[in-house]
Amino acid sequence: MALRKLVAGNWKMNGSLAALSELAGIVEAAQARPDVDVAICPPATLIAPAVAAQPGLAIGGQDCHANASGAHTGCVSVTLLKEAGASCVIVGHSERRADQHETDAEVQAKAQAAIAGGLKAIVCVGETEAQRDAGQAVAIVEGQLDGSAPREGTGETLVVAYEPVWAIGTGRTPTVGDVAEMHAAIRAKLVALLGAEGAKVRILYGGSVKASNAAELLSVPDVDGALVGGASLKAVDFGPIIAAA
Ligand code: PEP
Repeated sequence: MALRKLVAGNWKMNGSLAALSELAGIVEAAQARPDVDVAICPPATLIAPAVAAQPGLAIGGQDCHANASGAHTGCVSVTLLKEAGASCVIVGHSERRADQHETDAEVQAKAQAAIAGGLKAIVCVGETEAQRDAGQAVAIVEGQLDGSAPREGTGETLVVAYEPVWAIGTGRTPTVGDVAEMHAAIRAKLVALLGAEGAKVRILYGGSVKASNAAELLSVPDVDGALVGGASLKAVDFGPIIAAA
């Protein structure tokens, strides 16, 4: 089934109020492709100003807490993200799984909170280089989905992003064959876990996507879009990826 593509940008801990001027060019590229969904996930402090600058562009968070409120210094709840104008949130990014030691169960709880609170949850999964070299890539990702995919997720509320850890920010990408194998395995797993809705959940590829490789990666079966880090910071880099979707 061909699903509507989603191209999402993850600004990580980059950007600034001044950098929000890039959003105008991103909106222009998005308007040229009304058949593609586009979202930008800036740092939390930039969400409200980003929404104010470009009310027509979907803006998302990069993480949320599983709880609605409470004594969680430095964390951001789904309610706060929504109030700022976010419509989606990335959870379980490999940088958070590594730096903040987030477990599959925590990622699942965050995704569940996001969906319950009305945000689309973008759940990230992906193997390390050592795991791929050991022939464990598919099993690792299947295990991450077992542990972190919210079973109430639907095609509307859940997105999965396959991001091989070794491809993030490195300029390296898996072969088209490896992407095809992994996305087929993720699709099968989502159908096993979510039933018919699993066929409607978009599966993004992420990891060193850029203008020169986007068309090839986005043409692989079951690649329903891209999660883009570095190349989402500038409209001149991100626009051609949207165009290639
Ligand atoms: C990411 O971190 O989500 C990502 C895909 O980064 P990059 O595109 O820079 O590899």
